[in-house]
Amino acid sequence: MRKINVFDTTLRDGEQSAGVNLNFQEKLEIAKQLERLGVDIIEAGFPASSQGDFASVQAIAQTIKGSSITGLSRSLERDIETTWQALKDSAEPRIHVFIATSPIHMEYKLKMTPDQVIENAVAAVKLAKKTFPQVQWSAEDASRTELPFLAKIIREVIDAGATVINLPDTVGYTTPYEIGQMFRYVSENVPNIDRAILSTHNHDDLGMAVANSLAAIQNGAGQVECTVNGIGERAGNASLEEIAVALNIRQDHYKADTGLVLKEIKRTSSLVSKLTGMVVPNNKAVVGANAFAHESGIHQDGVLKNKETYEIITPELVGVSSNRMVLGKHSGRHAFKEKLIELGFNGTDEQLQKTFVAFKDLADKKKDITEDDLFALMTEATVGASVTHYELETLQVNYGTTNIPTATITMKLPTGETVQEAATGSGSVEAIYNTLERVIDEEILLMDYRIQSTTAGRDSLAEVYVTVKYDGTESSGRGTAHDVLEASAKAYINAVNRTINRKQFNEQQRTNPLNV
Ligand SMILES: [Zn+2]
Repeated sequence: MRKINVFDTTLRDGEQSAGVNLNFQEKLEIAKQLERLGVDIIEAGFPASSQGDFASVQAIAQTIKGSSITGLSRSLERDIETTWQALKDSAEPRIHVFIATSPIHMEYKLKMTPDQVIENAVAAVKLAKKTFPQVQWSAEDASRTELPFLAKIIREVIDAGATVINLPDTVGYTTPYEIGQMFRYVSENVPNIDRAILSTHNHDDLGMAVANSLAAIQNGAGQVECTVNGIGERAGNASLEEIAVALNIRQDHYKADTGLVLKEIKRTSSLVSKLTGMVVPNNKAVVGANAFAHESGIHQDGVLKNKETYEIITPELVGVSSNRMVLGKHSGRHAFKEKLIELGFNGTDEQLQKTFVAFKDLADKKKDITEDDLFALMTEATVGASVTHYELETLQVNYGTTNIPTATITMKLPTGETVQEAATGSGSVEAIYNTLERVIDEEILLMDYRIQSTTAGRDSLAEVYVTVKYDGTESSGRGTAHDVLEASAKAYINAVNRTINRKQFNEQQRTNPLNV
């Protein structure tokens, strides 16, 4: 069985999804989960792109020891040096340096001749190799690059020290047949190819990212780049869970495996979905809510007689539990803590205490507390709590079909003082947001608002995701509460708090710059 290395780029390419804006704490939380999933390489960010990215890549490199950590870098001396500073403490420092190789990118974007591109790529790899034991080199837009040129430049960068050669379908243009041909051509026409691992990186513009990744694997790729839930630029990247499960279920065909801890897939998917605010469609393969739901009578009948009649993947394989009731009103602190640890909780005692209070509160309102509920509370306590400048104290809304919706809010300001405000709106949510805008006393534009329930049932928790434009920047936020209006208020305040956090961080970096 061939071992395929999984290179996860959720925190770099995935974070480039429109509207996604993860903070430091959230990126670290996702990295820990990717380590638990058994990902070989985590691309934690693009350190030279911003100080925020630098700091989170550095923290991930210092924390995660079970996966190799990498950072994206342009073929510039400054980028390579910055990337080294961010990654030097990791267990196995690895850089991902790239340059475009297609005629259109070389001519219009880089304004360089093919020979200049080779020269530049070789110089970058040589420089990176002075510090990094592992150097991955990417030919941006490889799928639209002329094959003889591609073979030539790959040979040169391997001679310069590259240990992984990544051939991305940057624009999502290729087909399974063509990508197979490209990988086979490179394997057969680059004399020193045995000194490097070939890697594939695909985008889903034509809905073929996963199929292209699998075709590349069949034709020589030993590493696959992907993101959780397939998030990423435009239509996204190849989805990690689909590739891993396809290789596992069709081992007879592919004769290759990833070695991932597949039962961590569902939890990884839920965490990324919650923290990015990118909802997983119900019909999404492997992790969608309907992925294991047999609706037709004929199918149900078959599954009852023998599961294998219609079920090719078991829910247990990817960690989908039946979301059973796990705790109730009378569950004590000990049982609660045990359950959280089982779910992967690794917060502080203070966070545990806060989650326990929220749990007791929820148990008063909701009869059965399920794993999904606990997961929502846990995310809120560990990650959501990392940002509190404005804090909601009380909320009251008056609504009736014949009167004007009015909200009254008491809120704790960053200065510590408590204020009360009221405002009206044409609906309850608008009344709340008008009131909050008054408290914060700055213009806040609502760009997006979405709501979903954590579980089935009328007594479910509500999760609200918003994007606001505040203080010149767009920021996403989320809130979980038993009531939809409270969740709406929390999401809005969370988005504002995150903007302030980012601003403070940038300010701090200006006065006390990072050592790069
Ligand atoms: Zn990409």
